[in-house]
Amino acid sequence: MKGLPAKATRQHTKNHNSRLVLRIIYEDEAISRADIARKTGLTRTTVSTVVGELIEQGLIEETGAGQSSGGRLPILLRVAHEAHSVLALSFEDTQIVGALVDMRGSIQRRVSLSLYGYRPEELPGYLTRLIEELRADVTTHILGIGLSMPGIVDPVHGIVRRAVNFGLVDVPLRQWLQDQYRLPVYLDNAAHLAALAEYMFGDGAASGNLVVISIGVGIGAGMVLNGALFPGDGFGAGEIGHVVVADNGIRCNCGNVGCLETVASVPAIVRAARKWFSDPSSRLRALAPSAAAVDLDIVHRALEAGDPGVASVVEEAGYYLGIAIAHIVGLLNVERIVVTGAVAVLGLPFLEAVKVSLARHALAPLAAMTKVELIPERSDAVLLGITAMVLDQELGLLHTRVRLS
Ligand SMILES: [Zn+2]
Repeated sequence: MKGLPAKATRQHTKNHNSRLVLRIIYEDEAISRADIARKTGLTRTTVSTVVGELIEQGLIEETGAGQSSGGRLPILLRVAHEAHSVLALSFEDTQIVGALVDMRGSIQRRVSLSLYGYRPEELPGYLTRLIEELRADVTTHILGIGLSMPGIVDPVHGIVRRAVNFGLVDVPLRQWLQDQYRLPVYLDNAAHLAALAEYMFGDGAASGNLVVISIGVGIGAGMVLNGALFPGDGFGAGEIGHVVVADNGIRCNCGNVGCLETVASVPAIVRAARKWFSDPSSRLRALAPSAAAVDLDIVHRALEAGDPGVASVVEEAGYYLGIAIAHIVGLLNVERIVVTGAVAVLGLPFLEAVKVSLARHALAPLAAMTKVELIPERSDAVLLGITAMVLDQELGLLHTRVRLS
């Protein structure tokens, strides 16, 4: 604390203590002041003061008496999680989804707006409509607005650097929203937030490190390292979709040839499967009237029906993803890597291909200790990630795992 004026130091300590106490209560659901003191190492006087302030702020409340080993029953404390909410806005392929989410990740209200016919200059109007709808007659306290966008997002300055699908370049979205609504505003990239959601609200074993790879129309990854989201110096950490893995591959939207997205994204898998449509061994013709009608669902059904061509397509996509994951493993040695997104419907055959390829392309002991999981796309993953971001920034609640209520 050297160099800070005494008052700032006191403020900082107070902040630190109140965040610590809030986190303990958040994790425990119902806990006494004495147990908080025991768990935090703070004095009981300090705990009482901090608890008093948190009650005054409406963040926690007393919830009746707990068990006692004799003597007076202790009063338990809980987080008033339904009294506060995060206003989350998620930009998706064809729509913007907005939601009010409480502190435990329960979605209280949800609205969406189709992006059909969208023009970039209409963005403020879209956002205003969604936010007004979500705030109408709201009875909870809104902790802040969080926003997710596919593309390069600078969360430090609150600027959308480049979101190709929405025609946005260097848009200071945070400033605009703060001016409009006088609320704290946070934004980040969708793949980063999907990782944050899994870290905070997922079912996996708790660990400080996690990589989540989201595969849909595009491919992006988010990394939680030592309990914090790793953004990268240019906020592009995890942009693995445009790492070239296939020599002599096809040209990607980004201008390079053979990017991971050209061989392992959902459109790439569907495109490759369609080539098998007229093959005599193919089951696709029994499932779709034409090659053009083949989509991911039909690819999945053909795979289940034992279509050998489709199986080879899925295996090849897994092979290339395995190469990309081998690089992540070699660089980071993160034990748990989650693959999610629409691609997850391909299930075990895809996951097995990824694992075989990873074993071939990474150092054996590192590959052996890496758990690659394929988890179904959760429609609310990004909304939960946005919630985690705002809870972390506003209340310091990230270093915890909570059960979804
Ligand atoms: Zn590319």
